[in-house]
Amino acid sequence: MALKKTLTIAGSDTSAGAGMQADLKTFQELETYGIVALTSIVTMDKATWSHDVTPIPFDVFEKQLETAISIQPDAVKTGMLGTQEIIKRAGEAYEESGADYFVVDPVMVCKGENEVLNPGNTDAMIEHLLPKATVVTPNLFEAGQLANLGTLKSIDDMKKAAEIIHKQGAKHVIIKGGKALDQDKSYDLYYDGEHFYQLTTDMFQQSYNHGAGCTFAAATTAYLANGKTPKEAVIAAKAFVASAIKNGWKMNDFVGPVDHGAYNRVEHIDVDVTEV
Ligand code: ADP
Repeated sequence: MALKKTLTIAGSDTSAGAGMQADLKTFQELETYGIVALTSIVTMDKATWSHDVTPIPFDVFEKQLETAISIQPDAVKTGMLGTQEIIKRAGEAYEESGADYFVVDPVMVCKGENEVLNPGNTDAMIEHLLPKATVVTPNLFEAGQLANLGTLKSIDDMKKAAEIIHKQGAKHVIIKGGKALDQDKSYDLYYDGEHFYQLTTDMFQQSYNHGAGCTFAAATTAYLANGKTPKEAVIAAKAFVASAIKNGWKMNDFVGPVDHGAYNRVEHIDVDVTEV
C-alpha cells in the first residue's frame, strides 16, 4: 500500500532536533512520506548558541509550495513560519493542496530564545490558520497568547484558553502543559468542542528536550494521515514524544535534542486519559 504523504511547512533547525528535521524524522518513524516547504534556516553561534534566522526568499518559498502541492499531500503541518505573509500563504497552501488534515503548531519563539518572533504573527495565525486547523497544538505560552489570557497556571486556565481557541475556529485543541505547568506529572489538555480530556505521562528529564513540540505536532500529523481520529492521534503523539523526551541526549553545553526514534527503538510509555 502506498504511504500517506505528510507535508511540513517549517523552518530548518541546523542542530536537527526541532524544525523540519524533527518533522521528517518523525514522519519516517511513523511511516508516512515526509515532504518539506522551507520557510527559513536557523543557525546557531558555536560559542554562545544564540540563534540566527535566515528567511528563505518568498519567491523560493512559493516555488516549493507549488512542488509540494503537486505531490498531493494527505496532511499538512505548519511549524515556524516567521512572517504574516508566510502565515497567510501557508493557510492557502493547505486549502490548495486538497489535504484532509491541517495541524497547526503555532510556534512563537525558538526554544532557548526569549524573544517572541513577531507579535503581529499571533493575529495572523488566528485569522489565517486556526479557522482551517484540524488540530492546533499550542504550548502553555502560545495558548495564553492566542486566547489573550496571559500566563496560564492551571488545568482550569488551560480549559478557558482551549474554549477560546476552539471558538477561533480550530476543530480540536491540545494545549501542552509539559514542563511549563510545573507539576510532578506532564499534563496536556485536549478539547474537541464538547469534552475536555487530560492526557498525563510521568515527567521525564527536562534538560534534553529540544524539538519536543515539533515532534509532538509531527506525530499528530502522521497519525491523522494514517487514519487515527484527532483524539486518538494526540494521545498516540503524546506517547511517541514521551519516549523521545525520556531518551533525550546531550549534544553540547547548550542543547540536547529528543530522540525521535526512541518510541520504535527503545520503549513505549503509558498515557493516562481522563475526562476533566
Ligand atoms: P514546545 O516545544 O512547543 O514548548 P512542549 O515541550 O511543551 O512543547 O511539549 C511537547 C510535548 O512533550 C507535550 O506533550 C508535553 O506535555 C511533553 N513534555 C514536555 N516536557 C516533558 C517532560 N519533561 N516530561 C514528559 N513530557 C514532557
